[in-house]
Amino acid sequence: MKSLWDDAEAARFEGDLGLRVYTSRLLGRDKSLVLHGGGNTSVKIREANRFGEPEDILYVKGSGWDLETIEPAGFSPVRLAHVVRLAGLERLSDPDMVNELVTHMTRAAAPAPSIETILHGAMPFRFVDHAHADAGLAVTNTADGERRIREIYGDRVLVVPYRLPGFDLAKLVAAEFAARATPGTVGVVLLNHGIFSFGQSAREAYELMIELVGMAEHHLASQKAWDVVPAPVPATPEIGALEFAGLRRRISDAAGAPMLLCATANAKTLAFARHPEVARISQQGPATPDHVIRTKRVPMLGTDVDAYARAYREYFAAHAPQAKEPKTMLDPAPRVVLDPRFGLAAAGRTAKDARIVAELYDHTIDVILRAEALGGYVALPAQDLFDVEYWDLEQAKLRKGGKPPAFAGEVALVTGAASGIGKAAVAAFLARGAAVVGIDLNPAIATLHDRPDFLGIVGDLTDTDGVARALDRAVLAFGGLDMLVLNAGIFSPGRAIAELPDDEWRRVMRINLDANLALMRAAQPLLRLAPRGGRLVVIGSKNVPAPGVGAAAYSASKAALTQLARIAALEWGGDGIRVNTLHPDAVFDTGLWTEAVLAERAKRYGLTVDEYKKRNVLRTEVTSRDVAELAAELCGPLFARTTGAQIPVDGGNERVI
Ligand code: ZN
Repeated sequence: MKSLWDDAEAARFEGDLGLRVYTSRLLGRDKSLVLHGGGNTSVKIREANRFGEPEDILYVKGSGWDLETIEPAGFSPVRLAHVVRLAGLERLSDPDMVNELVTHMTRAAAPAPSIETILHGAMPFRFVDHAHADAGLAVTNTADGERRIREIYGDRVLVVPYRLPGFDLAKLVAAEFAARATPGTVGVVLLNHGIFSFGQSAREAYELMIELVGMAEHHLASQKAWDVVPAPVPATPEIGALEFAGLRRRISDAAGAPMLLCATANAKTLAFARHPEVARISQQGPATPDHVIRTKRVPMLGTDVDAYARAYREYFAAHAPQAKEPKTMLDPAPRVVLDPRFGLAAAGRTAKDARIVAELYDHTIDVILRAEALGGYVALPAQDLFDVEYWDLEQAKLRKGGKPPAFAGEVALVTGAASGIGKAAVAAFLARGAAVVGIDLNPAIATLHDRPDFLGIVGDLTDTDGVARALDRAVLAFGGLDMLVLNAGIFSPGRAIAELPDDEWRRVMRINLDANLALMRAAQPLLRLAPRGGRLVVIGSKNVPAPGVGAAAYSASKAALTQLARIAALEWGGDGIRVNTLHPDAVFDTGLWTEAVLAERAKRYGLTVDEYKKRNVLRTEVTSRDVAELAAELCGPLFARTTGAQIPVDGGNERVI
């Protein structure tokens, strides 16, 4: 563990708050120190108040900010004198503590201060750094962790037993500090939780943290418990897409809402899932209680969701009576799944949530294997973990998220997704909270969006094997398939039937019709497993109800596709799959229509380009986005009772009406 302090970089930050921002980011850069909110920092600064009087302000990390990307605005300014007085109270409930802190800030718009604010305020040092370092957790999550910590640090740190974060912990640490701190005390180790380091400067506190964590790493290395990379195994998943989608369906049912299930099959997760003692080492609890809210207490081993949910109910029934207040059970679905066939899979309502769960468990694997090498992994007692999982403050934080978006936990696949209506459909489904898979021949699809809820696959839909592989990838990435938008197609050049060559007719049919049939056939078993029922949207054409001369192959292919969709609506309705078709017309913002083509067409009709674009009953322009938004809405609750429909999106066409 090395200090990342850089004088030139540090010089760009001004004053104590600036340097507080800088070293907080340095801590945040190292995921083995702070992972997804697993740490916080503070600085005490004397400022003039509104009356010109000097006042000490505790700037402490505000909730909702990540150390890696924190800004000055991410620190909550709390009046230090009040914080110190609070620490002297006999008792203070969590909600009262939060209220006291929020009402004693000097900036009304600042975020709520960290739950560990009183602890930061009670430590008589200008800079206080706090991290949940992996190395420290590996040492303390063992049977003789406390002895080892004392051996590693001697008198340099105070050792405090595990306690739920908040007022009681702050009080305990303050009392220990008052009773036992010496001039040589540079930090505090909270067993099974994390490390505090202190300093009069930002650099001093930060580099002490690096030194303290480095000492734990060194201890692990000296005990041959640092490099615990498991024996390499072939990193290829061995589960079929259909079975994986079935697992995701059962997890969604147990959760009471659609969930994504994201497989992370790599050498490390596969080796851990195949570890001969995985049942013992994975079923004790997480490396630190603050993971429990996201990962649940233990992962599911294998794929028996009913058994997992039963065990969760028993865990709740056994530990809820010991809680201070009555608790309502959370959903009993697992968030982490370990299976020898795919290593690790993480469940979440969003791809971001699932990714965080996977990262937390990836670090947990390191901690468990290192603690095992040190003599045996021992997690906190289940009651302590329960108290964090059902901690009112944490639950309130999670609930703050508000109503989830319409397609939260669902997966949409869009073909021809790199441009035009397909690209707009990707955006429309992402905006509604779905994870989206886009397929296109154009390699640009791979980098269309850089976000955890998008997967771009370069592929040719006329290649049946390629389509099957793309579906497999999509299912392992997100867990299944709920919505499918058949958009890819080609428009053949205008040609009278008398001049239409066989090969052109066949090419159009192969792409616009045969490829869609193959994809529908392959997708149907997955759509059947969609927790809210599968949905298929076919992008047809105005040419179906109102064909034009010279477009025989295109119109016939779209008409056949529309008929195929109607039959699918009949055949699949019993499985809850809805199939609807849109007939767009005159969508000019696609690759097919260049400025020159538009100008030429408009001229032919004696119109301006604008008039030509709005040549419909409503005199309105139809864009890719209009079609895409309607495609997404067709998959939503407004159309929950509609299947087999054909809806024009053409501004009104006299021949169609
Ligand atoms: Zn902490």
